[in-house]
Amino acid sequence: MREIPAASASEGARFCRLCDIMAEMPEDVTEYADRLYRLLDEKDRADEETIRRRLSVCGSCPKQVGGTCLACGCYVLIRASAERSRCPKKKW
Ligand code: SF4
Repeated sequence: MREIPAASASEGARFCRLCDIMAEMPEDVTEYADRLYRLLDEKDRADEETIRRRLSVCGSCPKQVGGTCLACGCYVLIRASAERSRCPKKKW
């Protein structure tokens, strides 16, 4: 997991949850997620803004560890990419 420098955190710096999640995921998983996203019919894909909003919630959720949701076992990137997906804890 990427460390947040203490000085930056105390200065209220903003961090991208998507980047944090992507950084935590092994490269082969991000490739897999990307392939899976492209395999989804366009109508089944969530739009980019929705994916970012969902991942932002996942990024600060205690159930998310290393890009995996411990509530359902899914990679959050994959779960957030499908339009009809729902958070198992009803956070999105
Ligand atoms: S419980 Fe919901 S918000 Fe938390 S990691 Fe899982 S899908 Fe994301």
